[in-house]
Amino acid sequence: MKFSKLADYFEKLESTTKRLEMFEILSNMFKEAEIDEIDKIVYFSQERLLPPFKGVEIGMAEKLVERAIAKVCNVGIGKVESLYKKMGDLGLVAESMFKGRSGSKLDVTVVYNELMKIAKTSGPGSIELKINYLAGILSKCSPKEAKYIVRFVSGRLRLGIGDPTILDSLSKAKVGDRSLREELERAYNLCSDLGLVAQTLFKEGIKGIKEFKVTVGNPIRMALAERLPSAEEIIKKVGGKCSVEAKYDGFRAQLHKKGDEIEIFSRNLERTTHMFPEIVKAAKEQIRAKDAILEGEALAYNEETGELFPFQVTIQRKRKHGIKELAEEYPLRMFVFDLLYVDGVDYTKKSYEERRKALERIVKDGDVIKIAERIVSDDPKEIMRYFDELVARGLEGIMCKKLDSPYQAGARNFNWIKLKRSYKGELADTIDVVLVGYFKGRGARAKFGIGALLGAVYDDKLDVFKTVAKIGSGLSEERWVEIRKLLDETKVPNKPARVDSLIEPDVWVEPNYVITVKADEITRSPVHTCGRKGDEPGFALRFPRMTGWIREDKKPEDATTEKEIMEMFKMQKHVNLQT
Ligand code: ATP
Repeated sequence: MKFSKLADYFEKLESTTKRLEMFEILSNMFKEAEIDEIDKIVYFSQERLLPPFKGVEIGMAEKLVERAIAKVCNVGIGKVESLYKKMGDLGLVAESMFKGRSGSKLDVTVVYNELMKIAKTSGPGSIELKINYLAGILSKCSPKEAKYIVRFVSGRLRLGIGDPTILDSLSKAKVGDRSLREELERAYNLCSDLGLVAQTLFKEGIKGIKEFKVTVGNPIRMALAERLPSAEEIIKKVGGKCSVEAKYDGFRAQLHKKGDEIEIFSRNLERTTHMFPEIVKAAKEQIRAKDAILEGEALAYNEETGELFPFQVTIQRKRKHGIKELAEEYPLRMFVFDLLYVDGVDYTKKSYEERRKALERIVKDGDVIKIAERIVSDDPKEIMRYFDELVARGLEGIMCKKLDSPYQAGARNFNWIKLKRSYKGELADTIDVVLVGYFKGRGARAKFGIGALLGAVYDDKLDVFKTVAKIGSGLSEERWVEIRKLLDETKVPNKPARVDSLIEPDVWVEPNYVITVKADEITRSPVHTCGRKGDEPGFALRFPRMTGWIREDKKPEDATTEKEIMEMFKMQKHVNLQT
């Protein structure tokens, strides 16, 4: 496909405010792709060059992009800067400055490879090289092509397409409807690489997708837990005995071992190996297998007392510099709780009990890597005693696991059930919402230009964000200013295509940032779209307040789902009746 064609599709995608239209446009776009370019086109739609775990980022600073544009147009940088100030979008600047240039004959693959060259250039002299490479591509571009390349390299393409919409569209491109979505999703859950899934589908058809296997080095999308309010309910739900594990409050870590090569991936599947030098070292000594994939929670502990530190301490380890010093001050332990692969055998299909037994065999319990503690029980009293004991020791609660369940990559279901310390008089759990807009401040906040945030939960079936709360507290004055700045960088003139809202905020933003919210309860509400069916009201959070800061470990699609809110509403009614 010619890049000019792709740019036409991007233009169409950008102008739609409806998800269904987005789906149609995307499936037409994929249908036109050749086998050897479909992966690249999928990555472009995800606004990246490779999946996040590969750690290849193009992100060029705006100043460099400005210099490349100036170079191609043979003008001083000042001209580009002043136009940028006026227009606020470097893509539009490039488009206007390139006016009159004819369309290029560049193929998508050629543009992709050139951009990859920029991403991979590092070290001394790399800045000039990057500018030259970018100028080289841009010099062959039409105004429209330049607009999208400039936006892409500066990380501002903002097409706002979700992975589920890409999966649906790939299915439609291949067989005319969405019927392959489930199979494609399964493959995606196993490799976290949508380009690879698309290429396999185009090359080998559905047979290749069905045969998709776990690969060491490709993170597996993590299994997630549901919640229930009491041990009785948990026992009832799993139908008897379950494994009750301690719930540690740190970083979820998926460890991949391939011989002596170790990689650690985060909850959102980013490569975070550099953050955990002591775990990498221990993995080579404590894992008795050549290749393996295991999962656990990494958290800081006090070497003197043997106590686990709260999350606020562990989070300090999330940094790029000074890791060595901090590793000495706050060493981490990894409590492993699952095993997904060992030396050629895919364990994800095996039962929890089998996985746990193999985990205990393969991991030599040591100082750094430890096997998560647990009891197996079907007695609610015993489970609550264990819960109280763990909470008294500073743990977050328990994770109950169904003994005969497989590891379902990417799924949140009742195979795992969490029970956390509950906060009296408040919802027992916090809610993660995606910010989709904000309201300009009135009264005391008028001077900040922001007074409340519009938060939404995720409907993972339809791949849309539905509003659930207007959040106006929990932030200091400085934080309000800071969050407004961040949101302004992603503001859009109209409601984004994947947002479903009856409320019109003063400013719409791309669903991008996730925050954690505490609330008193969930109530029915006619103004929010979460859980709204026909004329029936939706759900809202009562007295929502933001806790902490933006959740960098969560993508918009990792926010609390609409389904979870509805379940929490039911649970809350139940608890109220009991007390
Ligand atoms: P989620 O990860 O389910 O979206 P969240 O980020 O809000 O939710 P919690 O609801 O507190 O986190 O709990 C889920 C997390 O608990 C898991 O993702 C994992 O990181 C952590 N965890 C701690 N101990 C365990 C355990 N024994 N088994 C599974 N997960 C555990």
